[in-house]
Parts: sequence; structure tokens; C-alpha cells
Amino acid sequence: MSFSNLGLSDPILKAIKEQGYTSPTPIQKQSIPIILTKKDVLAGAQTGTGKTAGFTLPLLQRMTEKKINGKPYVRALILTPTRELAAQVGESVETYGKYLPYKSAVIFGGVGINPQKAAIRKGLDILIATPGRLLDLVNQNCLDLSRVEFFVLDEADRMLDMGFIHDIKKVLALLPKHRQNLLFSATFSDDIKKLADKLLDNPTLIEVARRNTSSEAVSQVIHSVDKARKRELLASIIKKGKWKQVLVFTRTKHGANRLAEQLGKDGITAAAIHGGKSQGARTRALANFKSSEIRVLVATDIAARGIDIDQLPHVVNYELPNIAEDYVHRIGRTGRAGNEGEAISLVCIDELGLLKDIEKLIKKTIKNVQIEGFEVDPSIKAEPIQKKKTPRNNNNGNNRNRKPETKKNNPRRNPRANTKR
Ligand code: AMP
Repeated sequence: MSFSNLGLSDPILKAIKEQGYTSPTPIQKQSIPIILTKKDVLAGAQTGTGKTAGFTLPLLQRMTEKKINGKPYVRALILTPTRELAAQVGESVETYGKYLPYKSAVIFGGVGINPQKAAIRKGLDILIATPGRLLDLVNQNCLDLSRVEFFVLDEADRMLDMGFIHDIKKVLALLPKHRQNLLFSATFSDDIKKLADKLLDNPTLIEVARRNTSSEAVSQVIHSVDKARKRELLASIIKKGKWKQVLVFTRTKHGANRLAEQLGKDGITAAAIHGGKSQGARTRALANFKSSEIRVLVATDIAARGIDIDQLPHVVNYELPNIAEDYVHRIGRTGRAGNEGEAISLVCIDELGLLKDIEKLIKKTIKNVQIEGFEVDPSIKAEPIQKKKTPRNNNNGNNRNRKPETKKNNPRRNPRANTKR
């Protein structure tokens, strides 16, 4: 099947051709014709499936159905959970809309607001934004969303994980009643279903296989190793394999910084990317990684969400994630669009519980390959993993792993909690 059978017009087909895409991915095959029929859509698709083009292409096509005279106004609003994802969706809109007259802008926090205000003032057709900065601009009377015709909520599950539900509701209240809504999410929790009920009008459900749990494109392996020797093992794997590009995950920002620094000392160029870094530093690190100036990008889960790097051959879990689903998101960075990928996890004794959760989720046992010279020391005892405060377990109670805080177990509210009587 080719793109030309899907109902897209020549300017869009030309842009697709320039990207070198020969056929639509499964999500695109399903979503494009349905979105073109003006229906609301609830789509289950992860990053790596081609979901961005899956909503951007038909959205651009639908926009061409109406001619606008005079100054442009925001007709399409795309909300994303992170700045990186917003930037990448923005790039896709530019790329696929190259031969169309629409103006778009990407808006997120952590950078100056004035250039964003100036872009809005000039007039925009398509706005890609994270919720916080979008609401700031609305509150400062800089932005009118009352004529939005198309609303996309991208990675809705991650939005809820990050505690954006109230912001999303505020944004919805600013939109006109009559519009087309598209909700994309990798998972369908009860909270997502509730949001979908509120947002979508008689939606068509589209779901594609979670390619990274079922697909053979990503080979998964674990290497058992003592915690203290992980860095040495990682450096050895990178050097022996002559790896040119690898994305490495750590659990914490501090861990990411430290590892990037240590790899640098081992003669392996590396940079860390996490929520504690300025937007400029994050963009620079990503650009340097993409241009192969640095070999290793060390990332935390939230920062890496949505990072779109074509043909990334290796992903390493330097530390397993606390949330099993993050493992699936992490390894989804490799083995994309028909390329083979490899996901390696370095697992120490403390992480065996986390490994069990992951294997339960993906419904398979990951092969354990012992690297010679890095055998585990049986005298080392497991230590519990400190669950650091992250935006996700510091939010409005949306964290899947957190026990609800009650007066009884909260030392701040009950001074006698955790103290012996
Ligand atoms: P996404 O799931 O939107 O993050 O897209 C994953 C990657 O697939 C991106 O790098 C896209 O450029 C690429 N891609 C999207 N659609 C296609 C297609 N039809 N053929 C080949 N690559 C594609």
C-alpha cells in the first residue's frame, strides 16, 4: 500500500516522498483515512510506530479543506507532555507541511516567553505546546484558542503521569465545542478512558501492536553485574563493540550527570540530558548526539520521552526503571522503522525485583548473558532501591506505584507517624 491511496493531496505527498517514506506504517494506514472522515479518534500507539505522521498528515490535509482569508488564527492545537516531544512534533509539522502555506510554532516553558508572544502576534495556524506555558500565554491574554478546529493530545498517558490533568481540563475549557479531537496514548488506564470519555465524541478506536514487546526488531538481553562495576562494564561494551551511538538510561538526574562525566574520563564522549538541565543544554546535547559528536547520551526517563532519533542501534538500561512500563518506552528508542536494535540491561542484585516486574509486563524472560570478567560477587547483599521523588510521584496522586498519602502515614501532617511511642 502506498501513501497515494490514503486521500492525501499532492503537496503532502511530495513532502512525504522527500522524507523517503515508501509506505505508511500500520498506525498511519488506519488513522489517516479515519481522521479524514472528520471523526474523533482514540489511538493506542507508542513512539516509534510513526504515530506523529499518523495524526500530522491527515490534520494538514483537513486544514486544506477550508480557505482562510486574512490573518491566520490557531486552527490546530497539539498538546504534548514534554518540551522535547513538542519540538519534535513541531519539526514534523514543518516537514510534512513544507508545501502548504500554514504557519506553526512550538511553545514550551524553560525558554524566553517573548519570542513566543511575537510568533503568536504575527498569526499562527498550528500551535504545538506543553500545557503549562500554553496556559501562561492564555492568562496573559496573548493567545486565543476559541477557534480551534483540531485538537490533538499526544502521549496522553504520560501527560497524566506527569500530573497535567488539571491543565488539560483548563485547556479544554478554552476550546470551542465543535472540533475534531485526536487522543494518542501508549497505554489505556482507567484515567485515560475517563479523559477520553470527556474529550472525545463517539471516537473510532485504533490500536496497533506494541511493537517493542512483540516485535523481533529489538533484541533484549541482560548482563548481571555488581553495581560498583557497571560503569566499567558499560565502557568495555561500548569500546569492544566500537559503538558510535548509544542511549543510556539512569534512574536519577544525579546518576545521569555522574555517568556522563565518568564515561568522559574513560575516553568516551558523553552528555547527560534530564529535566534539571536548561532547555538550551538539552537541545545542544541532543543535537551533538544526533550529529555523532558525542557517542553516548545519558538520559532519565522523563527527559528521554519522545526523543526521536532515527536508526538508534543501541539502548542500555544502566539502571532498570522503577516503573516497568518505562522499560518498554526506553527500548522503544531502538529498532525503529524496520531497523534492528539492541537493548541491553545491566542488572545488579538490588534490581532483581524490578526485573521481575518488567518480565511480567512484557510476558517473557529476558536472556541473561554473563560477560566474562564481570561475574557477580555472591557475598554482596541486596540493598533496597531508594525511590527518589520524581515529578511523577510528586504529582496529584497519579503515580501508579505510590500508596495514597493518609494523615496516619504522613509525618508532616501527623508528627507521631514513624516515631516510637
Ligand atoms: P514516531 O512514532 O512518530 O515517533 O515516528 C518514529 C520514526 O519513524 C520517525 O523517525 C519518523 O520519521 C519515522 N517514520 C514515520 N512514518 C514513516 C514511514 N511511513 N516510513 C518510514 N519511516 C517513518
